[in-house]
Amino acid sequence: MQQTRQRHRVVLLPLPLQGHINPMLQLANILHSHGFSITIILHTSFPSPNPSNYPHFTFLSFPDGLSQSEASTTDLLSLILLLNLRCINPFRDCLVRLISDAEEEDPVACLISDAILHFAGPVADCRKLSRLVLRTGGVSSYAAFAAFPTLFEKGYFPVQDSRLEEPISELPPLRVKDLPVIKTSNFDSYYQFLTDMVRQNKASSGLIFNSFEELEQPALATLCPDFHIPIFPIGPFHRYFPASSSSLLTHDETSIPWLKTQAPKSVLYVSIGSIAAMDEKEFLEAAWGLANSKQPFLWVVRPGSVRGRKWLESLPNGFIEMLGGRGHIVNWAPQQDVLAHPAVGAFWTHNGWNSTLESICEGVPMICMPRFTDQLVNARYVSHVWGVGVQLENGLERGDIERAIRGLMVEKEGKEIRERMLHLKEKVNLCVMQGGSSHESLQRLISHISSF
Ligand code: UDP
Repeated sequence: MQQTRQRHRVVLLPLPLQGHINPMLQLANILHSHGFSITIILHTSFPSPNPSNYPHFTFLSFPDGLSQSEASTTDLLSLILLLNLRCINPFRDCLVRLISDAEEEDPVACLISDAILHFAGPVADCRKLSRLVLRTGGVSSYAAFAAFPTLFEKGYFPVQDSRLEEPISELPPLRVKDLPVIKTSNFDSYYQFLTDMVRQNKASSGLIFNSFEELEQPALATLCPDFHIPIFPIGPFHRYFPASSSSLLTHDETSIPWLKTQAPKSVLYVSIGSIAAMDEKEFLEAAWGLANSKQPFLWVVRPGSVRGRKWLESLPNGFIEMLGGRGHIVNWAPQQDVLAHPAVGAFWTHNGWNSTLESICEGVPMICMPRFTDQLVNARYVSHVWGVGVQLENGLERGDIERAIRGLMVEKEGKEIRERMLHLKEKVNLCVMQGGSSHESLQRLISHISSF
């Protein structure tokens, strides 16, 4: 009797942005440690992680059909729409070759694609390849995306300024201003994209989240009846073992030595991630808020993250000297190591999901400054559900910033938040251990993939 060869190879397709590549490569590492061979498919027009940090993976790239200027746009929505349009044919060709090349030696078990790249669904279905989806954001924000059609019917969209404070009874504790929207003149395209994404995700063989049950049980419970596919909350991914670097930018080497010179829990780490930006006025309010707080700070200012400026040239003359070494500004930091450093006492963040989760894992309370999409939901959960941070609700104003920093890091009012955060950190440590919820979900995922 002819034996069927076991399918061991998992092919992963990340969205080519930092906050999506990191968790996809962490997931690949987890699967590899359970005996799967790994192929990562990269887009040729985008920066890619250094393959030499992953000698155990195979990397392939496909011509995604975007020009350099299209690929480097700061208009996130148009980038996502273009990727979902232009990648279909070249990705199909790449997948066909890959499947046929691997068939003899190491047949492909399944594709795991980023939830945002929904075009991959029909392509894999046509090749009769099983497909799972990785949503790199949290479950609560995903539940809000999935509720868009209902919210649309109820007249919440497009969001009206006069209704921002209104609670959304369908998604407590979100208010209209916490809905995961993006600034666009083309709301219809955003809406269409989200409904296509959720529809294609529902048609997959399973949905993987970089989150854990203890954190997002209510959101998981709302999703499950509506999604007739298995859901695997197996995060936080980077908790399983030390991560290899998938950074697209070079880490500044001075951050950790500078932290070593600071007192325990004294430093505020500040970063708005890899995409978000601020205008010059906001940047200056942030700078003065930090300076006036009198707390030491490590501030990541990504080149280009102050709109219309190259880097720090908007700072007033003598600003850095005035700090007397109390502030250290870098263009990109080894964030996970920074958050794990004993000198760090709080994180002023834009609440990208990775940053939020990395902060929770290290027990670092947050000052929330969400900019768009899921960050808005994450910030609301951090401040009003998990109670492990405070949100800057009224834009960036130096007095508010100073008060938020001192309130969280120095004053009595921050004590309870810091205690809740430590309690949550303990839950994280348990969930990835034998018998923990994420560990169990991971076992289910491994069996699921092995059944293809
Ligand atoms: N990051 C980093 N150095 C920095 C800032 C961010 O390594 O100076 C990493 C961070 O650890 C996280 C990712 O970049 O894993 C950002 O992802 P997130 O979801 O927080 O935000 P996004 O960049 O997608 O908005």
